[in-house]
Amino acid sequence: MMTVLKQTHARISWLDQTLITAVVLLSSIFPVELFSNTPPAPKGFDGQYSGKQGQVLVVKVRGEEQATEVNGTFLKRTIPFFREFRPGESDGYIGLLGIDMQDEPGTYELAVDVKQGEQAKQLSFNVLVAKEKFIVEHLTLPKEKVDLDEKGAARWKAEQEQVKQALAENSRLKLWRSNFVEPVSGKRTGIFGSVRIMNGKPRNPHNGEDIGAPMGTDVAATNDGIVRITVDHIFSGKGVFVDHGLGFYSMYFHLSEILVNDGDLVKAGQIIGKVGATGRATGPHLHWGVKLNGARVNPYALLDLPLKNGSMTGSAVLTPAVGSASDLR
Ligand SMILES: [Zn+2]
Repeated sequence: MMTVLKQTHARISWLDQTLITAVVLLSSIFPVELFSNTPPAPKGFDGQYSGKQGQVLVVKVRGEEQATEVNGTFLKRTIPFFREFRPGESDGYIGLLGIDMQDEPGTYELAVDVKQGEQAKQLSFNVLVAKEKFIVEHLTLPKEKVDLDEKGAARWKAEQEQVKQALAENSRLKLWRSNFVEPVSGKRTGIFGSVRIMNGKPRNPHNGEDIGAPMGTDVAATNDGIVRITVDHIFSGKGVFVDHGLGFYSMYFHLSEILVNDGDLVKAGQIIGKVGATGRATGPHLHWGVKLNGARVNPYALLDLPLKNGSMTGSAVLTPAVGSASDLR
């Protein structure tokens, strides 16, 4: 799907004649059998673009070869764009816009600041956030598995803070490439975003995808990156957080074994740990989560991104980034 976006305002005239096009490619990511009544992914029209909660939009801004920095802002989240080189075509900039699983349905502005030296202008696009029909899970569990005691609650709070601090330090380099790898090929449970009612009380929605696999199965990094932090936490168990740059993180929880250390450089497909059931898990599985500039998105959205080999390589840009078996997370 290719659509020409209209430039709704430009502050400076130097780029007035510049042709701006944006291609927004929606990736539809949910198994059909689970959401048979889900309508087809909404499509962009007349400069308005849309995606469902938990989806990833690829936004392309073309005709800005002279730009030195391109950053988007969507729902107060900063989306760093990076330069795309495509042989035989003009260079453009690409941004991955994550729609958080809990972004309220509605229409919001994606403002894109284009800087060229001292000059700047802003492009404005509308993005319609459509509601996803997440499943509702009713779970009945032993009380101690659900409610933390005082000591557990304090530990959980400290762990949250530890992760927050580690992830505040985004790599400013784009480390990932277009070849995303499924960390474990197992049974997807399709419960990303599921609304969880535990022992009758609503809890946080499930912020990743659980993949059922035998204990000890290899877990691969989904893409190139830096291991930002490895943990052994109350809910996530043994976990690895990989920083892929420009605000994109992937995380792997409930591991039985971690095979990397903080600060290690990893390649797509590199084995970083083994499937386990550490933390609050009901059985061996991998909890795979992805954060994209603060938005919790369905990790499988990455595998379905319409990014072709060759179009995204060598495109590191120094841009500040601002920004079955199941578990009980
Ligand atoms: Zn999970």
